[in-house]
Amino acid sequence: MHSFEFVRPADQATAISTAAQSKTAQQGADVRFLGGGTTLIDLMKLNVETPARVLDINRLPLNEIEDTPDGGLKIGATIRNSSLAHHPKVQKGYSVLSQAILQGASAQIRNMATVGGNMLQRTRCAYFRDTAMACNKREPGSGCPAITGHNRTLAIIGVSEHCIATNPSDMCVAMTALEATIHVQGPKGPRVIPFGDFHLLPGNTPHLETVLEPGDLITHVTLPPPVARSRQVYLKLRDRASYEFALASAAVVLTIAGGHITHARIALGGIGTKPWRSPDAERALTGKTANEAAFRQCAESALHGARPQSENGFKIELARRCLTHALRTAAAS
Ligand SMILES: Cc1cc2nc3c(=O)[nH]c(=O)nc-3n(C[C@H](O)[C@H](O)[C@H](O)COP(=O)(O)OP(=O)(O)OC[C@H]3O[C@@H](n4cnc5c(N)ncnc54)[C@H](O)[C@@H]3O)c2cc1C
Ligand code: SF4
Repeated sequence: MHSFEFVRPADQATAISTAAQSKTAQQGADVRFLGGGTTLIDLMKLNVETPARVLDINRLPLNEIEDTPDGGLKIGATIRNSSLAHHPKVQKGYSVLSQAILQGASAQIRNMATVGGNMLQRTRCAYFRDTAMACNKREPGSGCPAITGHNRTLAIIGVSEHCIATNPSDMCVAMTALEATIHVQGPKGPRVIPFGDFHLLPGNTPHLETVLEPGDLITHVTLPPPVARSRQVYLKLRDRASYEFALASAAVVLTIAGGHITHARIALGGIGTKPWRSPDAERALTGKTANEAAFRQCAESALHGARPQSENGFKIELARRCLTHALRTAAAS
């Protein structure tokens, strides 16, 4: 691992002004915040990330979960994934979030990983993690060997000819379905970003992954008030039962009255270049009778336009079945 300076900023303003000296907040940033370190330190050991300065934000006052005046929840950026998943209000009103977090990684990693860090975890694409290989995300313009190489676990939605990397987060899929909001404090002041606008599609610039600018510190995430009488399910399909990333996952928030679906929020994981909300799938369900035909139609809509590569065509039907089963389970709950 290359040498770097480890800094504990005294306060938030110092953390932000120090990080603002970086030329970018994206791949290649020379100043990085440190949450749990389960992504950053991993990538520094592989020389994929080589920051000159690492700013430990764990002593900043960003570790509370509080009620918001409108009945929602405010979640500090350094809250550990396990604390969030086991919080009584999350388990009661936002159970899809609790389920998603608890199906990710391992207990030890969840005890370290922070909410802010989870939102910025990097793709598990093997070429990205190997500096001997070309990769447009790591080194813009060098090429994407995954498109003609090993792509079984990679994305089928939101892809471009320059990158097909999957966003690996489970938590973010649930946050997307819950319509969370990200709060950032930067050199120019605070900003509020709807969860669905935070991650970028790869397009021609796969090295740009989020809307963050140098110095931007995620301070907290807010959740709107829980959807009354909603049924919530996170279903994750993967190669083994634990300690594995999703091949396909579905987060579902449904309300059903008199046998009809009155509210549907649907997001997919493991198949998209970002946590993938599907308004088409939501429209396909809303107002319909909650039955197999509606669930299947919804799943067809969600996967419409998928662009598989040589090894990952199986994900289309896998994701359809994942979503159908999640809807069936939610409706029966
Ligand atoms: C073996 C293994 C298995 C895993 N399996 C899964 C899985 O199944 N599902 C899943 O979803 N995840 C999985 N993960 C990923 C894990 O969830 C992430 O590594 C973790 O959530 C990252 O959080 P962190 O706090 O450790 O991030 P860090 O490594 O501390 O930071 C990650 C990035 O976020 C930036 N950052 C951190 N906090 C802030 C902030 N407040 N503002 C701005 N930038 C910030 C850092 O600078 C860095 O660039 C796995 C990880 C490992 C190592
Ligand atoms: S899919 Fe993206 S991350 Fe993977 S090699 Fe191609 S450019 Fe790099």
